Amino acid sequence: MADRYQLPRGTFDVLPDESNARARIERSAGQLFARAGFERITTPAFEETALFERGVGRSTDIVQKEMFTFDDKGGRSITLRPEGTAPICRAYVEHGMKKLAQPVRLYYIGPFFRHERPQAGRYRQFNQIGAETIGTDSPMADAELIIMLDELFARLRISGVRLRLGSLGSLETRHGYRERLVAYLRRHKAQLSDDVRRRIDLNPLRAFDSDDPGTRRVMQNAPLLVDSLDSDDATHFGEVCSMLDEAGVRYDIDPTLVRGLDYYTRTVFSFVSAKLGAQSEIGGGGRYDGLIEQLGGGATPAAGWAIGVERVLLAMGRPVRLSRRLVVFVAVANDRDRRGAFRLAAQLRRTGITTQIDLGGRSLKGQFRHAERIGARFIFTLEESGEVSLRDRRSGESHQVDLTPFEEEPKELRKYLRDLSHSG
Ligand code: AMP
Repeated sequence: MADRYQLPRGTFDVLPDESNARARIERSAGQLFARAGFERITTPAFEETALFERGVGRSTDIVQKEMFTFDDKGGRSITLRPEGTAPICRAYVEHGMKKLAQPVRLYYIGPFFRHERPQAGRYRQFNQIGAETIGTDSPMADAELIIMLDELFARLRISGVRLRLGSLGSLETRHGYRERLVAYLRRHKAQLSDDVRRRIDLNPLRAFDSDDPGTRRVMQNAPLLVDSLDSDDATHFGEVCSMLDEAGVRYDIDPTLVRGLDYYTRTVFSFVSAKLGAQSEIGGGGRYDGLIEQLGGGATPAAGWAIGVERVLLAMGRPVRLSRRLVVFVAVANDRDRRGAFRLAAQLRRTGITTQIDLGGRSLKGQFRHAERIGARFIFTLEESGEVSLRDRRSGESHQVDLTPFEEEPKELRKYLRDLSHSG
């Protein structure tokens, strides 16, 4: 027997039923984006490795452990994109978008890749929807982004989502704070987990994320970044909060919130859902005022977020019910009428009605059974006598129809079926 193949670890197929749910999420997001003036951008699924090393940061888990990196045939190091912000900043610089009216508002939808240990809500290929507002440091941009995401969750009827909000200050504040934190961690080295101890210098902030009991005890009295914010950063953060208050968006200020990417400055946020278990974050983001400069552009403040589509689906917790499409089936009593059925089906499809015919040479009874299995509401049958009957499967009623008048006015046929479907 030939070998059977299986999905690579950490990946999944999206089957048609779930495609509908995904399309609905994308549609809802697309509408919100359009109203707020965000335009779609699509960048390649892979980039030069150095872009992520510089952009996301060498000390992060993503760059240290999770990238799918390989050399192409020309010996260039290539990485399947683990996140969307660095590529968009690359595109902003590469296409001279600073010449456009600022801020530039962009959104993206697509697959991302991280070599993580797979579990519910964590995959090696997953999909994100993300938004970026580039070219302004206004706290209004941060608030606008957060409010838009809050509204998206409301539209998708995702309940029980909590918003954690924090500020990391400017890069300088963070550097000063970092030194104090490193000194504090060194003083309590003995109580820290091996992992945290090893990374004291590389990434001390991650100590706040540790599950290790000893580390957690130490972190309870650790200096907090929010207490070190300079007055500009504190004012900026205060304004973001007051705009969220005004919009009625509830949040918890979380002084320990650090996200796993190096580029954040000032505002950071994370939407979590209790329904998701260990991987509780549905989406998050923040401000990254230094990133574009870091990638070779001019100083350009920006902010953004990304949500994981698979986690949104989990948080929705139920299959998305779409309004059911009206499906029509065209059956033939006699094989010789198959061309006629084919023509009628094509005509119905042109008017916008979802129509199916039998392609398998089934008997009339077999065709009816098939119509039932695919959930057809109406069945046209080209009868032995040459007449055409129309049966409404819901009411079970059947009657003869004369299709000649519809040949001139095919749209009327669609109206006729719609009227029938509403009266039944
Ligand atoms: P990040 O790019 O790390 O800020 O992640 C943004 C969002 O992407 C998270 O809140 C998750 O919803 C989603 N996400 C990140 N990594 C994964 C993964 N490995 N599998 C599924 N979703 C993910």
